Amino acid sequence: MEADLVFRGGTVLTLDEADTTATALAVLGGRIVAVGGDAAVSAHIGPRTRVEDISGRAVLPGINDTHMHAAWVGATWPMVFFSDDPPAFDQRLVSTEEERLAALLGAADVAASFGITSYTEPGIGPGEDHGPTGAMGTATLRLYQRLAREGRLKQRVNLLMLFGPIDGPSNLAGLVEGLADYDTATPDPRRFRVAGVKIFADGVPITQTSWVHCHYADGSQGRLTVEGADEAARAEALRRMVVAALRAGHQVGVHATGDRSIDTILDAVAEADVRDQDLRPYVIHGDLATPAQLDRMAELGVGVTYQAGIGTATEPWVSETLGAARARAGWAYAEAWRRGVPASLSSDAPFLSLDWRREVANADAWMGPAGDQRARLTQLLRAWTAIPAWFDHAESWKGVIGVGQAADLVVLDRAPTCAAEMPAVEVDATYLDGLPTYRRGLAPRRARLARPEADRRRPAS
Ligand SMILES: [Zn+2]
Repeated sequence: MEADLVFRGGTVLTLDEADTTATALAVLGGRIVAVGGDAAVSAHIGPRTRVEDISGRAVLPGINDTHMHAAWVGATWPMVFFSDDPPAFDQRLVSTEEERLAALLGAADVAASFGITSYTEPGIGPGEDHGPTGAMGTATLRLYQRLAREGRLKQRVNLLMLFGPIDGPSNLAGLVEGLADYDTATPDPRRFRVAGVKIFADGVPITQTSWVHCHYADGSQGRLTVEGADEAARAEALRRMVVAALRAGHQVGVHATGDRSIDTILDAVAEADVRDQDLRPYVIHGDLATPAQLDRMAELGVGVTYQAGIGTATEPWVSETLGAARARAGWAYAEAWRRGVPASLSSDAPFLSLDWRREVANADAWMGPAGDQRARLTQLLRAWTAIPAWFDHAESWKGVIGVGQAADLVVLDRAPTCAAEMPAVEVDATYLDGLPTYRRGLAPRRARLARPEADRRRPAS
């Protein structure tokens, strides 16, 4: 079988569960057809094969950011909120279709330059049609659908619909009404897919708006952002929203940082009783999830996506208001992995940067210096590749390097040996379905690089 593309002479980190490594791989028709030693893979080289010598370099599966506001980050980049120079939170960023297009294509270029081949766009919908940024309304959903039809997406996109404003209140009626109007049109679900619904439960620990069982230093406990006259009514409304979305067959991502919010969500998932539908609901952020809650998540099949950099950046303030022990016990992704919870790491850009390498180092620092460095590196890289594929219901065809998997790949300028060195490692190239979306040294391009599956089967004209 003559391959389109062969990488050889380097380090291939497959990031499969056994942490298999190889030196070469072959790609045909956008799929990986061989992984192994140079000699075995070279059997796939023919006159048409493009051969890439990667000696001294490494190839790993494409990065999948499970929580990245691309439409928003495209309009603010390179400014991010957790920095010395944050963008304004409620400023009009985009107004016209042209500006929205520029933001989405710009975000795609930046993401490709970081090795990102998949992401979840969390929270696009009518709730933001009149939102302050202008970036996350229904027009953005339509634009994604258009770009998918035109084969112009440089990443695979999973989108969560939002039926309230970003970081704002929502209610059951709005959700149920929204779900009735739910538009999932896509020419190719592997490239673009409306995956489910996002619901906001509470705020964030640093502003004491996480809904928590213990009291903050000022005596408050935060609250749910869901509409309702009192605490009980808000909790009931949140439970009913989660149950309604799950029973309608949607994947649900709930923004929840406080342990009290997380309890409410887990109660709702148990109540919905839809385990047999494999919907894979997940908690977004999960900052203050407790070990007991993580056990319950494992039992219920609920995932969580954490942002390591938010933990490291906000710990001093959270320590002041909730105590040092509670702060340090937060962002418990290592506990989540030990307990069998599908826990990914993500950027929440534009809150953090799209630079996942820095996030790998942040997570490593949070976990402390002790332990097997190589196993740690693999676990942290899997939190950006293999584990995110679970969120996308796509582990059978992406997330690791293996025969039959999509050729979504990142080439690094060296083979990393520990997580702490990741920020110094450069992304040399990014491939989606075996086609380059980024090469270091070349100016970012906006050419038609990514063709939908349907197109691929037609002869090039
Ligand atoms: Zn977010």
